[in-house]
Amino acid sequence: MKIAILSQDPSLYSTKRLKEAGDQQGHDMRVINYLRCYMNIASHRPSVVYNGKPLEDFDAIIPRIGASKTFYGTAVVRQFEIMGVFSMNESQAISRSRDKLRCLQILAREGIGLPVTGFAHATQDIDGLIETVGGAPLVIKLLEGTQGIGVVLAETYQAAKSVIEAFRGLDANILVQEYIKEAKGADLRCFVVGGKVIAAMKRQSAEGEFRSNLHRGGQAEKVKLTPEEKSTAIRAAKAMGLSVAGVDLLRSNHGPVVMEVNSSPGLEGIETASEVDVAGKIIDFIAKNASPTNNPEQLR
Ligand code: ADP
Ligand code: GLU
Repeated sequence: MKIAILSQDPSLYSTKRLKEAGDQQGHDMRVINYLRCYMNIASHRPSVVYNGKPLEDFDAIIPRIGASKTFYGTAVVRQFEIMGVFSMNESQAISRSRDKLRCLQILAREGIGLPVTGFAHATQDIDGLIETVGGAPLVIKLLEGTQGIGVVLAETYQAAKSVIEAFRGLDANILVQEYIKEAKGADLRCFVVGGKVIAAMKRQSAEGEFRSNLHRGGQAEKVKLTPEEKSTAIRAAKAMGLSVAGVDLLRSNHGPVVMEVNSSPGLEGIETASEVDVAGKIIDFIAKNASPTNNPEQLR
């Protein structure tokens, strides 16, 4: 098969590993910088042009769209879909996953366990918002944040109120969440491929830090998930419409709760911690699902 990895940088670990795994299985792997693709959307024959040449005869694409490039990246993915090319994750599911609030609303609709979460626009509603999540301590998140930046633990009611007022004063969109103290600064990253959890890791935050992001000094280790944790991760990926997803869970007193579903999960941490060939499993999934008979109209 001819497979394009849509990535800004061929030297990134995840990009390299996907290329390597595809090469090993005998596929023709190309790394394409999607920001350098341009599209002819008006013609009878939709195309994507790269380095002055149309990209043709691809059987599948692997989108690795950066969070800040979602708008243009998903447009390129959509164009491939219109051309009938199988996408590992659909453009619509990628866009949906990039909006934390929308993500939580979709998961809630499916009855999936979540931390109690509140969202409001006006600063007059702050008291009500804090009460919704059961008061302090609570977690405040900037909707646009990634890698743990913009996630704040407010220990007291006063601190919570000041931080919310400050963020709202900057016109930032925030959500407020119950603090899952019993998770003890750890979260679980469950890597879902084609409706199965194929690898998992536990990330433990650094001393004196509640955020377990590896970028915030967290440490990853192998972990065995409970059947409930596995099924929660699988249901979350399915609700988001993602074939490949990194689902982040917290171990709470009321069972596993989903914090986030990531549509371009990184491979380095998870492959190192779990010792699973995650890239190989992704290529297996694509090889199995990208055949023409298996490629229904993707654009809804
Ligand atoms: P980001 O998308 O920026 O990584 P997250 O929502 O995943 O933001 O939060 C970063 C980290 O903060 C999580 O990995 C987790 O360790 C911690 N955290 C986030 N929300 C909560 C919460 N409600 N209760 C306890 N810890 C939390
Ligand atoms: N097909 C999508 C759905 O119903 C459309 C709406 C959306 O993007 O969330 O899940």
